[in-house]
Amino acid sequence: MEKTDITIIGAGVIGLAIAAEISRPDLNVFILEKNHAHGGGISSRNSEVIHGGIYYPAGSMKASLCAVGNKILYGLAAKHKIPHRRTGKLIVAVTRNEIEELEHLYSNGRENGIAGLSMISKKQTAGLEPNIQALAALHSPDTGIISVHDLMNYFLTEALRRKAQIVYNTEVAGIEKDSGRWRIFTQNKKGEAFEFSSACVVNAAGLESDTIADMIGNNYQLHYCKGDYCSISGVREGIVQRLIYPVPEKKNIGLGVHLTMDLNGRLKLGPDTTYIDRKEDYHVAAGKAEIFFQSARKFLPFLKRENIQPDMSGIRPKLQGPDDDFRDFVIKEDASGFINLVGIESPGMTASPAIARFVKDKYLG
Ligand SMILES: Cc1cc2nc3c(=O)[nH]c(=O)nc-3n(C[C@H](O)[C@H](O)[C@H](O)COP(=O)(O)OP(=O)(O)OC[C@H]3O[C@@H](n4cnc5c(N)ncnc54)[C@H](O)[C@@H]3O)c2cc1C
Repeated sequence: MEKTDITIIGAGVIGLAIAAEISRPDLNVFILEKNHAHGGGISSRNSEVIHGGIYYPAGSMKASLCAVGNKILYGLAAKHKIPHRRTGKLIVAVTRNEIEELEHLYSNGRENGIAGLSMISKKQTAGLEPNIQALAALHSPDTGIISVHDLMNYFLTEALRRKAQIVYNTEVAGIEKDSGRWRIFTQNKKGEAFEFSSACVVNAAGLESDTIADMIGNNYQLHYCKGDYCSISGVREGIVQRLIYPVPEKKNIGLGVHLTMDLNGRLKLGPDTTYIDRKEDYHVAAGKAEIFFQSARKFLPFLKRENIQPDMSGIRPKLQGPDDDFRDFVIKEDASGFINLVGIESPGMTASPAIARFVKDKYLG
C-alpha cells in the first residue's frame, strides 16, 4: 500500500494555506480534492473581504486568528502581487440605539487589539462618504478586499514548489486507524476505489468537515447557513469608496446585509443569513432584491429598487445552530495525527494564513 506523511483533505483556501505552510521537499504531502479543480467550494463564494476582527468575542480563535491573518495577508499580497485593496470600512448607525451598539463594537475591537479603529461623528462620516446616511460610524481602516482566487493560486503554487502533490476528482470515502497510521479510502468520479496510508491527516473539507470527522468517530454537526448576494448596477462609479456595513445582527449569526465591492469597483449587497437543509442549493430567489433594497436604503439613500438584481450565494459551515450562541472555529487534534478544522466560516479566508501557521506550530512543526 502506498504511504504518505501528511494528507490534507480539501483544496479550499484553508487546505491550500496549510499545504503552503507545511510542505517541504523531505515530507510527502498530499492534497485530496473531490472536485476537478481547487477552490470550488465555500472559498469561491464569499465576499473576499480582509476582515479587521472587530466582531468576535475577545479571546476567541476567530478574533485572534483574524487579527493575525489580516496582517499576514496584506504582507503576502504586497510581496507576491496578489490583487487587493485596503479600502477601509464603516459600520454605520442609523438610529440612536445603534450608536450604543457601535460603542460596544468599538470597545470589543480594541480589546481584540485592532489598531486604527475610531468612532466618528455624522459630520466626519459625511466627510469620508458623502453619499451615505449615518448618525455616526465606526471606522476600520485596515479592512480591505482581495482576489481569493489569486490568493488560492498563490498558496497552491507555493505548496507545489515545496513538492506537495495535489490529486483532483478524488473523494475521501472512509478512514480507519491501522497500526498507528491512517488508512484512507478514496473514490474517483468513475467510481474507482483506491486506498493508501498516511501518518497524519488534516481535515479541511469545509462543508463536509463534520462528515470526515465522523469517519473516525468525532461528532460535530454543521448547520448550513446560506448567504445570498444581490448585484448593484446603474449607480455612478465611485459613489462609495469604502465597504459600508450596518450594525450587525444579534448573536453574531451574520454581519447584516452590507455593501461590498470587488476589485473592479462593482458593488454588491449581502450576504444575508438563512439556515437551510443540508444541500448545496445556490439559487437566489428573485424576491431577495426587494428585501435587500428595503434593508440597505436606510444607509444607502442613493439606491433605487431597479439598481438591485439577485446574484450569487454561498453557504456557511456553521457549528452555531439557529438558537445557539457564538461558536468558535474548531482546530484540534482530535485523535493522534488527525487534525480537524470544523466550522471554518467567516473570517476563515482572512484567517487562513494564520490558521496555517497555528496548525503547523501546534501540531505539525
Ligand atoms: C457567504 C459567505 C461570505 C464569506 N465572506 C468572507 C469574507 O468576506 N472574508 C473572510 O475572511 N471569510 C469569508 N467567508 C468565509 C470563508 O469563505 C471560509 O471560511 C473559507 O472559504 C473556508 O475555506 P475551506 O477551505 O475551509 O472550505 P472550502 O473552500 O469549501 O474547501 C473545502 C474543500 O474540500 C473539498 N471536499 C469536501 N469533502 C471532500 C471529500 N470527502 N474528499 C475530498 N475533498 C472534499 C471540497 O470540494 C472543497 O473544495 C465567507 C463565507 C461565506 C459562505
